[in-house]
Amino acid sequence: MLEAIAVAGLLLILGDFLSTFFYHVPEHVFGSLHLTTHHSWKKNFRHYAILTLNPQVLLDGILGALPYLLVAVCLWTLSPIGVICGLLFGQFHVWWRHVISLGWQTPQAVTVLCKFLFITTPEQHWLHHQKTNFGFGDIFTFFDQPAKIWMRWLRLSRIYLRSHAVTHISG
Ligand SMILES: [Zn+2]
Ligand SMILES: [Zn+2]
Repeated sequence: MLEAIAVAGLLLILGDFLSTFFYHVPEHVFGSLHLTTHHSWKKNFRHYAILTLNPQVLLDGILGALPYLLVAVCLWTLSPIGVICGLLFGQFHVWWRHVISLGWQTPQAVTVLCKFLFITTPEQHWLHHQKTNFGFGDIFTFFDQPAKIWMRWLRLSRIYLRSHAVTHISG
């Protein structure tokens, strides 16, 4: 039982870490798929919660979920039940963090519990939808600050790479 809970927690933490630092933030800096699909305005709940057959939305969702699946494969032998519970929680959280678009307001007690567990509430995730520099860490709030630093680094390296490319071409 304890092992299953530990494996589920580990899966979510490692999955969110890899997804945030190797897909979500780089995609914000270098890509456009996530920005044009997930951050597009005035879409409905099904669009944000990836309950649609729109190929671009699905691709963004699959790329974001891939790290969780990789971690799931690695942790499977430790506790299959833990892996399944972790994946189910992760999927549930994808739906739950987008319920703001259904007019949801998180009850105070749940907000306090989430704060205690460092879990991203729908309100915090909605902030990310509105201002793309805020509210990183799809599941865990402790990834927010390091993700912002990572984003600054990637932006600087993008500027460097572009200026480097220009001097190469002009030189
Ligand atoms: Zn979202
Ligand atoms: Zn985003």
